[in-house]
Amino acid sequence: MNVMQTAIEYLKGVGPERARLLKTELQIHSYQDLVHFFPNRYLDRTQFHSLSNLPQNNSEIQLIGVITSIEYVEQKHGKRMIATFSDETGSIELVWFRGYKWIRESLKLNTLYVIFGRLNWFKGRASMPHPEMELKENYEQGVKAAFYPIYPTTEKLTQKGISQRVIQKLVASLLQEHAESFAETLPDYLLHHFKFYSKKEALWHIHFPTTQHELSRAQQRLKFEEFFFLQVQLLLKNQQRKQKIKGYTFKMVGPIFHEFYENHLPFLLTNSQKKVIKEIRNDMGSGKQMNRLLQGDVGSGKTIVALFASLIAIDNQFQSCIVAPTEILVQQHYQTLSELLSKSEVSCEMLTGSTSKKDRVSIHEGLQNGTIHLLVGTHAIFEETVQFKNLGLAIIDEQHRFGVAQRAKLWHKNDIPPHILVMTATPIPRTLAMSIYGDLDYSLINELPPGRKPVKTLHRFDKNRLQVFAFIKDQIDLGRQIYIVYPLIQESEKLDYKDLMDGYESISRSFPSPKYQISIVHGQMKADDKAYEMGRFVRGETNIMVATTVIEVGVNVPNASVMIVESAERFGLSQLHQLRGRVGRGADQSYCILMSSHALSDDGKVRLETMVKTNDGFEIAEVDLRLRGPGNVMGTQQSGILQLKIADLVKDATLLKAARDTVKQLLKNDPELVSAHHQCVKRTLSSMRIDSNIWNFIS
Ligand code: ADP
Ligand code: MG
Repeated sequence: MNVMQTAIEYLKGVGPERARLLKTELQIHSYQDLVHFFPNRYLDRTQFHSLSNLPQNNSEIQLIGVITSIEYVEQKHGKRMIATFSDETGSIELVWFRGYKWIRESLKLNTLYVIFGRLNWFKGRASMPHPEMELKENYEQGVKAAFYPIYPTTEKLTQKGISQRVIQKLVASLLQEHAESFAETLPDYLLHHFKFYSKKEALWHIHFPTTQHELSRAQQRLKFEEFFFLQVQLLLKNQQRKQKIKGYTFKMVGPIFHEFYENHLPFLLTNSQKKVIKEIRNDMGSGKQMNRLLQGDVGSGKTIVALFASLIAIDNQFQSCIVAPTEILVQQHYQTLSELLSKSEVSCEMLTGSTSKKDRVSIHEGLQNGTIHLLVGTHAIFEETVQFKNLGLAIIDEQHRFGVAQRAKLWHKNDIPPHILVMTATPIPRTLAMSIYGDLDYSLINELPPGRKPVKTLHRFDKNRLQVFAFIKDQIDLGRQIYIVYPLIQESEKLDYKDLMDGYESISRSFPSPKYQISIVHGQMKADDKAYEMGRFVRGETNIMVATTVIEVGVNVPNASVMIVESAERFGLSQLHQLRGRVGRGADQSYCILMSSHALSDDGKVRLETMVKTNDGFEIAEVDLRLRGPGNVMGTQQSGILQLKIADLVKDATLLKAARDTVKQLLKNDPELVSAHHQCVKRTLSSMRIDSNIWNFIS
């Protein structure tokens, strides 16, 4: 067995009790885990402060001095131990609230210590709670490094005596005793090309750098390695799928496609749309299953692409389905598509949770005998009872709202899986797309249809509401329609509901009927009622739509030119961007007004400023990624895929790009990893614990 897989309790100085703590607190199970437990900061060990010249903030510092006395103080919150620590220039109190019995036994008076801890200033006096203590004599025999690694440990470990010093020693002894066991993971020629440290060197210098330069080089190498193996896994998976998973071959772009293109398409396609349709056509003609992600900002025209893809399937005697996350959206798709298809022979049906039993029976029948060519629906499509004659293409709109398990069910509808096209309107930063969707083929619509006027975005405080209402009146007089959206956040649903209703009442007072008509749509309404209210607004019978975020996705009302977002500071950036995308769909100048209170968090301020500054979805997504980190942006904290140990998707974007390009080239030259150079890659790959969640998430 590889020494690195050895259970951590067998390391000298660990034992069963500490091993248990290391496992539960830090997920360190083996030698391998420990050397890959990287410091998150470094302290300059050559720097000691003198007590007469302490930094005036709560920073972490090193001191040298002696303990001159120890006393116990009884206080409201319990007993504490206080030691007076002095150097030639002054003294400071060291404080222990817990575990001091054990500490007291080991402390020596009037003996030189090197101590490390965080200063705590209170009423002009500094103290240091729970410092790490080491006899100066021992300290000098320890590892000689200019930087002192600070590990991201937990309070509990420190309390149980596994201090920074202890971890440092464990790592050092492991590195020293098993230096030969750290097998190289990257091919020689890459180390050479990038001038990287060997694995062994990198591990040593990441834990115990003697210069900043060594530290940076170690970090570069280890970050690259982390990206490299992520990309190897993703790209291998893509490659294997293309080798193994057969797909239907749609040989021709036939008469139905051409007839529609030439006679019924109401506008010219943008170049982006054409390019993407071509990519999809190539995929579906290749004999391999298509797995493509299509990204395109709101309003970029993904629906028509979905239709063309479907027409290719239908031309080849197959069926297609389009799945959308909400009933409203499905209805809109259905309406749009059946209008577009009204003069063609393609039959299109809609299936949702509220489809009547009678209709359902006839739809099931039509799907099974093939008279229905295109089905638009909610996740009701995934139900066991829905069987297609020959489903050739499944298109999933706004996939981030779906559980992946639901997507997976599609695979079992036929023997050969249908081609899959996932469309998303959430702009994802490139680095994230490369990591999360790295195994999918990827298309991008990066232009909007011509003639769109960019939406003007303003930020207004609640106290300016009257002005905003006056503006709404002007717009309504011009014949426009208005959205007013309230936040709906699950945890406080009741409160949100009350806000919505209060808002609705106040709006009703300011915009009295019969002059003004108001629709209201929220999550607690029945589907029928929602559709009814939505319908009135779509047909222009109401001037104002008051809603919670149910309208977020996909609703298309070109005459609506103002989007008011209430408590905008409570929305995330991508949500705000989605909401803004509801307007600016017609010929008129549109506006998005973000309402907020004066009290804004720093992040809240950045979010609103970003929205006012730019309409570019990708720029917004980058800011979102910086503010919230990849796990939160994608909602994948649990999936494991983005739990990078050392690399950072935001800061190390260049390195990620380099790793991806390197891996692409490597797999192009040696797809099976058979060359002698690549045995280290293969070995590392097979020793990696592959979290099955990763794969579930990705496809
Ligand atoms: P999304 O990508 O957000 O799903 P849609 O497909 O709903 O966008 O398209 C938004 C609007 O733009 C629709 O009204 C659609 O008819 C229109 N549209 C799409 N493509 C074009 C085009 N090439 N030229 C003009 N209008 C277009
Ligand atoms: Mg859409």
